[in-house]
Amino acid sequence: MLIVQKYGGSSVADATCIKRVAGIIAERYSEGHDLVVVLSAQGDTTDDLIEKAAELNPNPTRREMDVLLSTGEQISIALMAMALESMGLPVVTLTAWQVPIRTSSDYSAARIKKIETERLRNELDKRRIVIVAGFQGLNKNDDITTLGRGGSDTTAVALAAALHADLCQIFTDVEGVYSADPRKVKSARKLDEITYDEMLELASLGAQVLHNRSVELAKRYGVNLEVLSSFVRASGTIVKEVTKLETSKISGVAKDNNVARIAILGLRDEPGIAFKVFRVVSSAKINVDIILQSIGRESTKDISFTVPSADMDTAVKALEAQRDALGFASISADASVSKVSIVGAGMMSATGIATLMFEALYDAKVNISMISTSEIKISVLVNESDADRAIQAIHDKFFG
Ligand code: ASP
Ligand code: MG
Repeated sequence: MLIVQKYGGSSVADATCIKRVAGIIAERYSEGHDLVVVLSAQGDTTDDLIEKAAELNPNPTRREMDVLLSTGEQISIALMAMALESMGLPVVTLTAWQVPIRTSSDYSAARIKKIETERLRNELDKRRIVIVAGFQGLNKNDDITTLGRGGSDTTAVALAAALHADLCQIFTDVEGVYSADPRKVKSARKLDEITYDEMLELASLGAQVLHNRSVELAKRYGVNLEVLSSFVRASGTIVKEVTKLETSKISGVAKDNNVARIAILGLRDEPGIAFKVFRVVSSAKINVDIILQSIGRESTKDISFTVPSADMDTAVKALEAQRDALGFASISADASVSKVSIVGAGMMSATGIATLMFEALYDAKVNISMISTSEIKISVLVNESDADRAIQAIHDKFFG
């Protein structure tokens, strides 16, 4: 089999961890598999580099940030190669520009465009273990780019897709994907399987298991994906297109504190108002998530919506600047809200899922301020201080 493995920062944090991982790699290799191994920067290296930059310049260019941040992964691959060499194994390291992995030009948020596979194939044909630096790429000007925080997952899945690998394993410090954050919810359970769509929802809802984009790629190219631990020998969670029906109707509960609610009161109740409001927000390049519009009364209406917390002030300023054109009475913003969601492909065919969720919130005396649903997800907006209680109550209701 051709297997692409990715080990995250905590899995290669120090010499002990690197030796542990080298042991796993050696085992797979001795079974006769072809191996491409993608590594993240060790432990907190990337954060430390960001701090170093800040000591010198509060606003470094993103180009130079990428030159800096891409170094962390290069350290990891060299050290891993040395560990494997000391065990007598044939190994070669490749940075993204040696592969090469071609990306778009957006520094710090580049997207993989194309991966040349010739060099990789040649090395594999020589029965070498190929160790590739994650998170980095090369744009059309041959400048270094990075794929965004957590981007090594995406490097691994993209390599698996380009090489038509049989399996892509993402090794991390937890045993797989859980029904809720296991650090917060004691009864959280590891899922055997989850669909790409569920994983995508969970990834974008703040469950920090996999880089969002890696799941998108895995779905698009049908990559066999497994999330598992490098510390504990146990099978992990398989991410795939269709899963066998589990006993629970939902796969997971997640929360996202990184949201803020903006409410615009007293807008005119006439055609085009929503368009004008959201045109202002989107011109400011701000993503809107949940939207709620009140029923018009006495020729006015209210519109509230959520944005990422970091964009709240910008959004309010942009709207205030258009106050006369939009003609509203008042605007308010609240960052102390949290989005709590349940995700489950089984929702499409089951009834009463929303009722169960709302009942759990009622039992826990949590007030809901907004609701939004999709085919496989129900999200509610609650006070940030209620969010953990909400998660626990909902989890107990569905998995208890
Ligand atoms: N080292 C990068 C980060 O910390 C990429 C990764 O770990 O996936 O975000
Ligand atoms: Mg990660």
